[in-house]
Amino acid sequence: MNNYQRLFANNKAWATSVRETDPTYFERRAASQAPHFFFIGCCDSRVPAELLTGAKPGEIFTHRNIANQAHPNDLSMLAALEYAVEFLDVKHVLICGHYGCGGVKAATLPQGHGVVDHWLHVVRDVYRWNADELAAIPDEEGRAHRLVELNVLEQVFQLSRTPVVQRAWAKGKRPVISGLVYDIHDGMLKEVVAGLDSEDKARQLRSQVTGPVSAEKPRT
Ligand SMILES: [Zn+2]
Repeated sequence: MNNYQRLFANNKAWATSVRETDPTYFERRAASQAPHFFFIGCCDSRVPAELLTGAKPGEIFTHRNIANQAHPNDLSMLAALEYAVEFLDVKHVLICGHYGCGGVKAATLPQGHGVVDHWLHVVRDVYRWNADELAAIPDEEGRAHRLVELNVLEQVFQLSRTPVVQRAWAKGKRPVISGLVYDIHDGMLKEVVAGLDSEDKARQLRSQVTGPVSAEKPRT
């Protein structure tokens, strides 16, 4: 059996197993979805949102891209965010980075990776803004881990700038936005931004990424 054939075999075994333990499961799921979370993660195959959180189908609305970004001009992400917040009434948005992220790593290297170089320009800015802090970290892995965390902070801030979140916050303190990092070495999730639900908290967060000379740095 090759990998493609194995997909179908595993799918059949899974669907059969679910039906055996919960005969009306698919009937209920087909009727509606009411996810608790909107999850923005990296494309990396080692970071499966449902598997690492124990969530079942119907519990996490998901968008993934390289380096888990919330670009303000990414129509795919914005459409998913709008649907999640305004139609599905998701209360909690998660941006989840991960240690060992090839996208974040690529943003620290000379360009030459193709289209992804354009996609990574915000991560490259984060790297440049925090060059002094990162240079003070003695080991390469430590620097890479810190840049992954700083990228999550910046992406949470970028998400807070979107019209969808601004509209929602104008009506009430939701959605709450959290920033997480998944450690591919031990399978554990770490919280790097908790409970962002207001303009004041968003501004405080931005200063953590851009540092004390932020007034001289480009803003969006
Ligand atoms: Zn990644």
